[in-house]
Amino acid sequence: MGGKVILVGAGPGDAGLMTVKGRRALEQAEVVVFDRLVDAGILEAIPAGAEKIDVGKNAGDHPVPQHEINRILLEKAQAGKRVVRLKGGDCFVFGRGGEELELLSEHGVDFEVVPGITSALAAAAYAGIPATHRDFCASVHIITGHRRRNERLDLDYEALARLNGTLIFLMSVATFGEIGRGLIDAGLPPEHRCAIVENGTRPEQRKLITTVGDAAACVVRENVQSPAIFIVGRVCELSERMDWFDRLPLKGARVLVARPREDSHRLAERLRAVGARVVELPAARTEALTFELPEPPVNLLLPDGYAVEALLEQMKRTGADIRALARYALVCESEGAARALLNFGLRPDAPDGDWPSVRLCREGEAGIAVWRRILPPPMDGEIGADFVAFTTLSGVEAFRHSMSHRDPGGLRAVCIGPQTAEAARNLGLNVFQADEPTLESVAKRMEALWQMRN
Ligand code: SAH
Repeated sequence: MGGKVILVGAGPGDAGLMTVKGRRALEQAEVVVFDRLVDAGILEAIPAGAEKIDVGKNAGDHPVPQHEINRILLEKAQAGKRVVRLKGGDCFVFGRGGEELELLSEHGVDFEVVPGITSALAAAAYAGIPATHRDFCASVHIITGHRRRNERLDLDYEALARLNGTLIFLMSVATFGEIGRGLIDAGLPPEHRCAIVENGTRPEQRKLITTVGDAAACVVRENVQSPAIFIVGRVCELSERMDWFDRLPLKGARVLVARPREDSHRLAERLRAVGARVVELPAARTEALTFELPEPPVNLLLPDGYAVEALLEQMKRTGADIRALARYALVCESEGAARALLNFGLRPDAPDGDWPSVRLCREGEAGIAVWRRILPPPMDGEIGADFVAFTTLSGVEAFRHSMSHRDPGGLRAVCIGPQTAEAARNLGLNVFQADEPTLESVAKRMEALWQMRN
């Protein structure tokens, strides 16, 4: 069986800007070959069993050379694999996608292409700059400022200056001095507008509005780093009025989200949507333990949903019939336990006064241990966050564990309720409690705090 290579444009950075078709291909991949510019939020969609090959092209570092990438794609496809080749932005806009397909087509390997949103247009849009506007220009041009070794750029400045269109330069952080001079010598006024968008569409996006004459100095002054695009044209005049991204309520805020369950993923999404840079702390996992059910009749005391899940997991594992539970009283000690039971189609019972009682509990507590929590390994490096969000007690526990002995300093914790707030206070955090016990309210509280910072 022959394999196949699917060339997929991952979009400019914001993980939401990848196409549905591209994402589906990624979810079905057996091998994924990806570049440096692909966002971590996208790489998460790669199935656990798939082979991941990072051919990251770090400027200066030693990237995997192009012919080597071509060879990897060919080899994997010939081994019958479903290969996804993920590239930043669009695959054919300075992505060398064409070169990768040449070798495949020579060898008769099947391939498909899923276009992506190019950073050239997306970074402009996230900076409030429409690539074209009827009042200002009639065309848009995407140009590379990449120069081969020490050669001069081979650009037709006279033509570019005459076009009267929007000029968007990629790969130009190191070369814009030469480009700006070329354009001015060709007749473009030095005060012609120019915008630089660094890390476009990402929460750390930076927009600098300058002029063609000043842009190279601006790169040095502001220490602009790749990836960045340079937009030359009158449309840049609109960027102040049309900027929507920098105005998002959590733009630029760095937030840690403790991630005990599904819930926090929704919170992370919610915070990202308003511009936050979210790092999800690795989750504490719960694991159901193997145990012996006591002989009925017995009151089984269930402190929480984890105990219920462990009980049913145990039934499944031993091939038991769920009706065997009819000979026990299932006594819930919390809302969570009752909810979990109802999920399995079982209704909570009242305890029977004549029967003995046994509690099914977490490892280390008094009773029969039926589940345990496995904590993630401590995180390395700086905490480097403006906020941490807590929506459950187990989240606080996971946070404490990942921080190990580091001093959280004045880190601000936004907590969903009094219990999480209390636990966070015990860790020495600067605690704020949401007005209501909802994810939405946590997000709102954080937005209000971030807005007040200046
Ligand atoms: N195929 C890609 C471009 C690859 S060339 C695309 O369609 O976007 C790499 C160049 O793309 C970088 O040097 C930079 O100029 C630009 N680029 C990529 N991602 C960017 C981003 N998030 N913000 C600004 N520029 C970006």
